[in-house]
Amino acid sequence: MAKQPMLKFVKIERAMPEKRDANVRAKDFHEIYAEYADAKAKEQSGRCSQCGVPYCQSHCPLHNNIPDWLRLTAEGRLQEAYEVSQATNTFPEICGRICPQDRLCEGNCVIEQSGHGTVTIGAVEKYITDTAWEEGWVQPIKPRAERTESVGIIGAGPGGLAAADVLRRQGVQVTIYDRYDRSGGLLTYGIPGFKLEKDVVMRRNAQLEEGGVRFKMNCSVGEDLSFEEIRDQHDAVIIATGVYKTRDLQGPGSGAKGIVRAIDYLTASNRKSFGDEVPEFDSGELNAEGKKIVVIGGGDTAMDCVRTAIRQGATSVKCLYRRDRANMPGSQREVQNAEEEGVKFEWLTAPKGFKGDPVTGVIVEKMRLGLPDATGRQSPEVIEGSDYVEEADIVIKALGFEPEDLPTLWGQPELAVTRWGTVRAEFTTGATDLDGVYAIGDIVRGASLVVWAIRDGRDCAEAILERFNTAGSVAAE
Ligand SMILES: Cc1cc2nc3c(=O)[nH]c(=O)nc-3n(C[C@H](O)[C@H](O)[C@H](O)COP(=O)(O)OP(=O)(O)OC[C@H]3O[C@@H](n4cnc5c(N)ncnc54)[C@H](O)[C@@H]3O)c2cc1C
Ligand code: SF4
Repeated sequence: MAKQPMLKFVKIERAMPEKRDANVRAKDFHEIYAEYADAKAKEQSGRCSQCGVPYCQSHCPLHNNIPDWLRLTAEGRLQEAYEVSQATNTFPEICGRICPQDRLCEGNCVIEQSGHGTVTIGAVEKYITDTAWEEGWVQPIKPRAERTESVGIIGAGPGGLAAADVLRRQGVQVTIYDRYDRSGGLLTYGIPGFKLEKDVVMRRNAQLEEGGVRFKMNCSVGEDLSFEEIRDQHDAVIIATGVYKTRDLQGPGSGAKGIVRAIDYLTASNRKSFGDEVPEFDSGELNAEGKKIVVIGGGDTAMDCVRTAIRQGATSVKCLYRRDRANMPGSQREVQNAEEEGVKFEWLTAPKGFKGDPVTGVIVEKMRLGLPDATGRQSPEVIEGSDYVEEADIVIKALGFEPEDLPTLWGQPELAVTRWGTVRAEFTTGATDLDGVYAIGDIVRGASLVVWAIRDGRDCAEAILERFNTAGSVAAE
């Protein structure tokens, strides 16, 4: 491992390049930055008290062995840290970037609880695996022996990909079906590139493809191929389709041009970053540049929309949310980021209707928080006579997602769903009521998190392997 400069030294060096050390002078920006990251990762890892009650670990859905990889990083044993980290997480560099750590590992760090600021666990996790990719420590998928059984996975999001990774490493024949042209699900087309660079996702897609996972893209199950056909072709099927039905806005004028769905807006932006032709973006319909933008909703999707709009050069970006800041579902860290970037939040504000077609404004009314509802959250109540108009050229609906009606769409009435429309499956294995059919990720949990989809995918793959092993599989050479 190269000698690490002190953090302070790097700062001085950037301000006064003429004072650089001869060895450092030979390095380009990337190398200096990498050393900075290494020093920072070491410094942060060294702050872990190895408390012995790792709440960080128990609050990570993957139960990552965080204290161990922090200790190894602090000791400069980065490759070992990577080995420990990847043992429980299929995509550590992705989780390190986009997990809401303030609600999971970092929020429960003992140092954070004692008021001294959390160890930046996510940033260290990202750093370890990014380094592993750069150094060639990430192993390709090479099963020791091929197996005869095959699994069909519907949906190439993090849940489906994590399951594919585990199954393929054991030699199972895996085919993933997805209606998009690129795999990754919301990692590719939902989450913006400023939070999760697309080459990080594509690198994982390539690793799976090179490892023998077959991808059937542009294949919408229920339209291009029936669920029955997939079931007939495989020994087990995993449904990992996520949730995509947008909750809608009501009120006069809600059908006006210029009122768009968050997923369409974010997909267009992500497609542009791949260099795709996106007519709705080029026409301005899904491009915030030079426009007044109003986003309705208070979750992480709304935060992604407002921050994307700022980056596209909107003249103003406002976020309307019907409860207050303390009660919003999105990560507080994301709200803070958005505020720092210039987004204005209008708390306790709900849309009542819309002006113009194309839209020119949102008629909003102010709310107050009343008594708690069945979930324990205070219900918003309208303050009569408080209406006013928020001007808008584009209104983005970011009110959350619901599952599509899979039993009807796929002609499978016996596929049991919950009263929320999510597929009913055992949480530990993903097994559904249909023999050999499993379900994981958002389609089971409702809109959730990447890290939970990964957890489901891994658990489900293990359950399928156990089933195959119990049935006594024939190994194919
Ligand atoms: C805008 C946005 C931002 C988010 N940001 C974060 C974040 O920062 N951190 C975080 O942890 N989580 C975030 N989430 C949530 C996270 O992305 C999801 O919880 C996660 O992607 C769910 O994974 P999944 O594999 O279940 O489904 P998805 O990622 O939704 O993948 C499902 C796949 O199934 C495919 N599919 C669906 N129906 C069919 C069909 N009939 N035939 C073929 N293919 C089909 C879809 O094309 C898609 O590729 C965000 C969500 C959104 C919408
Ligand atoms: S996977 Fe997420 S919750 Fe777990 S350690 Fe990494 S960042 Fe924290």
